[in-house]
Amino acid sequence: MMKTEKLYYIDSHLTVFSARVLRCDSLEDGRYAVVLDRTAFFPEGGGQSADTGTIGEARMLDVRERKGEILHFLTSALPEQTEVQCVLDKEQRFRRMQNHSGEHVLSGLIHSTYDYDNVGFHMGESCMTIDFSGELTWEQVLALEHRANEIIRKNLPIRTYFPPPEELASLDYRSKLDLTEDVRIVEIEGVDRCACCAPHVSFTGEIGIIKVLSCERHRGGVRIEVVCGLDALDNFNARQQSVTEISNLLSAKRGEITSAVEHLMNERDELKYSLAAAERRLTTVLADAVAETDGNLLFFNFSAAALDGSPEVQGADNTNILKSDVAQRELVNLLVPKCKGMAAVFAGSDETGYRYVIGSAHADLRAKTREINAALSGRGGGRPEMIMGSCTAPASVIREYFSK
Ligand SMILES: [Zn+2]
Repeated sequence: MMKTEKLYYIDSHLTVFSARVLRCDSLEDGRYAVVLDRTAFFPEGGGQSADTGTIGEARMLDVRERKGEILHFLTSALPEQTEVQCVLDKEQRFRRMQNHSGEHVLSGLIHSTYDYDNVGFHMGESCMTIDFSGELTWEQVLALEHRANEIIRKNLPIRTYFPPPEELASLDYRSKLDLTEDVRIVEIEGVDRCACCAPHVSFTGEIGIIKVLSCERHRGGVRIEVVCGLDALDNFNARQQSVTEISNLLSAKRGEITSAVEHLMNERDELKYSLAAAERRLTTVLADAVAETDGNLLFFNFSAAALDGSPEVQGADNTNILKSDVAQRELVNLLVPKCKGMAAVFAGSDETGYRYVIGSAHADLRAKTREINAALSGRGGGRPEMIMGSCTAPASVIREYFSK
């Protein structure tokens, strides 16, 4: 078995290269595993995903390292012992390097300032999350972000090397494991030294920008969300797009959307209060108009339903304007003294189902709950003098039940 020459360690910006196909195995899952004499395709490692791209006409599905050999998993076969042209998805690789190098800058600063370790690292589709072993306030995070961006502006070289075992033993670096050979060091001059197998940008300036999106307590430390470079630009554009859409919806200038939303919320609160007052007045008027009866009384929303088969009284407007449970209960309370049977108010529609409140001064409703719910396909319960719940039965079934 021959080790594949790792071109991504020689030049992390190499995205087009030629190589010789040493082996091409057809796999049971329909993919082909190809070994080249040399490759710039980085296999998954160090929190960074495998590169994508093409080899000849074949599309790359995955890249893995096994015992020094880099396996390229492809959509189609390649003839062995031929030279092939390889092309990486350049921008995707660059974005990942921007994020990963940015992560090293920030983790290095946090380590040297607070002595916290990076204890978890995930590079997601839209941002990275990094977990640290100690707590940070938002002010501390912003100060770190400021310093990290200063390091970007200084455009410091990022050097990578494999120190010999005797040198490694005395070297101070992060992510120190028990490994003594083939340990690759990524060093940002005067800022950070860390063991890492992934490709990085060559100078800190290439990171572009480091932006922390959030910082939350996590397992005795913090989890921060970070974006760098082109991903940060995308993030900014997405935010700007939402702000523009919100400002258009509110007809407010972009800088004034917070006060416009506050205004809207105040207006909504006032409407809620006046609606509640109007509902209270309406329930009183409705209840006053109802004649006393020995039987049941039934209301749908704010319309009294006729129980003897005659047309609905008080108009047949069955739109669900009875928005609050309070008004529904209040109406029942006002109707109870007017009937010897049950006073029932249903809010909703046949399509959405109904919320119900049923009251009675004479019948023990708690004892009748099971029967009512069975008849109306409902669920709910309460006290002997009042039960509440919801049901899916249509108005016709409800009307028939209360006609009895
Ligand atoms: Zn790393």
